[in-house]
Amino acid sequence: MSRPVEAIGPGGRRLAVILPSLLCNYDCPYCRIKAKRRQPGERPLSAWQQALIGIGAPLVHVAGGEPTVLKGFADFVLGYPAPLRMTTNLWRPPEDWPPGFWERFEYVTLSFHPDSAEFEAFAARAATLAALFDRRAALRPRLTCTIVADPRWIDSLPGWIARLRVLGLEARGQYLNRPVGDPAPVYSDADLARLRALGLPMSSDQAGQEAHEDRPRLCDAGMAYCHIDPTGAARRCSRDRLSLGNLFDGTFAWLDGERRCDTACTEACDRTFARFRPLADGEAVA
Ligand code: SF4
Ligand code: SF4
Repeated sequence: MSRPVEAIGPGGRRLAVILPSLLCNYDCPYCRIKAKRRQPGERPLSAWQQALIGIGAPLVHVAGGEPTVLKGFADFVLGYPAPLRMTTNLWRPPEDWPPGFWERFEYVTLSFHPDSAEFEAFAARAATLAALFDRRAALRPRLTCTIVADPRWIDSLPGWIARLRVLGLEARGQYLNRPVGDPAPVYSDADLARLRALGLPMSSDQAGQEAHEDRPRLCDAGMAYCHIDPTGAARRCSRDRLSLGNLFDGTFAWLDGERRCDTACTEACDRTFARFRPLADGEAVA
C-alpha cells in the first residue's frame, strides 16, 4: 500500500517534469544526457523553487541527471508547496535524508543501473526506503523500481525483478530508448524477440526504436504536462519542440488547447500524460 498519486490532466493537476541539471554521479554508457559538471546557465534549486511557485506550483517530477546530488536538494524538497515525484538512482542511503523528506513525494522511480551499482546494494536500499514507512503505509510514496533492459543483461532481468518483488517492491524493465529512425538501434531483432519472450512487465509496450504512430496528431501535451530543461526552456513534452516559453524570464505559459504534432512520439515523451489522436486525412487544425 502507498499514498494515492494525483491525477494529471483535465480535472486534475498540472505536472512539470524538470531537469534542473544533467549532473550525475553515475556513468552509464547508454546515457545520452549525463554531465559531469554543472553547465553554464544552470540555476540553483532555490531559483527553481521560486519560479515554479510563480507559475502556480504545479506538481513537479524532478529528473536529471541525478537530482539528489544537487546542492540544496533537501531544502527544495522540504520547501516546495506541492507534491513531488522523482527519478533517482538511489545512490544515497534513504535514511541519510532529513526527517520528512520522503513524505514529500507521492511517487519515486528507483532506477537500477548495473554498470554503476551492485544489485544487492540497490535492492537493500530500496527495501530500506520502503521499511521507513512500515507503520505509516498510507504516507509511503509509490515506489517503482526500473531496470534498463540493456541487451547485455536481458537474461538477468527476470531474476532481478523477481527479487525486488519478493521484497515487496514494484519492479519492471525499461526499454533503452533511441529516437525513432535512429540508424543505430539499441536492439537487434533477435534481442528484442528474446526480451519479449520473457514476458516481463515493462514501462512501455513498445521499444523506443520501434515506429510509433507517425501521422500528424492533435495532442494536449503542454496543457497540463510539460518538460523544462536546465536553462528553464519549457516544451510540451520531451520530444516535440513546441515552446511554452522560459520558466525564468516570465514567458512561460501553459497551452490553452490541443496543438498539432508531427514529431515521432516515443515512450520518452511521457505518452502516459498526453492524450492525442491521429488527424484524419485533410482535417484542418486551427
Ligand atoms: S544514472 Fe541516469 S542520468 Fe545518471 S548516467 Fe545513468 S542513465 Fe544517465
Ligand atoms: S511527441 Fe507525442 S506526446 Fe509529444 S506532443 Fe507529439 S504526440 Fe504529444
